[in-house]
Amino acid sequence: MNQTFDIIKNLTEADYYKNANLHIHTNFSDGKLHPSEIIELAKQKNLKYISITDHNTLEAYNHIDLDSNALLKMTGCNLQIITGVEFDCWYKSNFMHILGYGIDLNNEELNNLCARNPNESKLDIIRISTSRKAPEVIKIIKEAGGISVLAHPCCCWNINIKKMITELKSFGLDGVEVYYPYIRHRAIVKFHTIKKVNAIAKELNLLITGGTDCHNDDL
Ligand SMILES: [Zn+2]
Ligand SMILES: [Zn+2]
Repeated sequence: MNQTFDIIKNLTEADYYKNANLHIHTNFSDGKLHPSEIIELAKQKNLKYISITDHNTLEAYNHIDLDSNALLKMTGCNLQIITGVEFDCWYKSNFMHILGYGIDLNNEELNNLCARNPNESKLDIIRISTSRKAPEVIKIIKEAGGISVLAHPCCCWNINIKKMITELKSFGLDGVEVYYPYIRHRAIVKFHTIKKVNAIAKELNLLITGGTDCHNDDL
């Protein structure tokens, strides 16, 4: 298994509320902060692991110095950055977000899957018109050396979420996001409980990840 898989496998629920945040947006998608401001904040908060996961774009990583193994160790502190992205895609009639972690930023297919214009990384209304399909997204993330995670599954408009996650697993899905606050619009549009998704993840032996999905000026 790869390094990212091992790191994520070893992170606990307590870590996600204390020193790991694997779901962060920058101003290269619809977030507010520049990647350097995010790294500064993460250091102030003594975080150990973060991942910048912009919508359909890797552009933020052009503004961060990464070492060759795709994990950044900042000098003078313990912060490590796990490379990340969040793709809009469809599976059958379900619109969803799939996170990719530990991806090779130079992978050609992965880059081809990214936004062709800046709007595709910004406006929700444009992003929903994507033609990306979940099985393809999962496959390309894997080929780029990464692991794929279904983002905020409690928001999925699907009554039989267990069936859906089981099917996504058959395409290679590695995990589901469980530990994160359901804030913003998600506080209203929530179809499943965290408890339920957590139980499904354990039953299907999937990785469990977490992050704040922050778009504003805090992590
Ligand atoms: Zn999302
Ligand atoms: Zn997000």
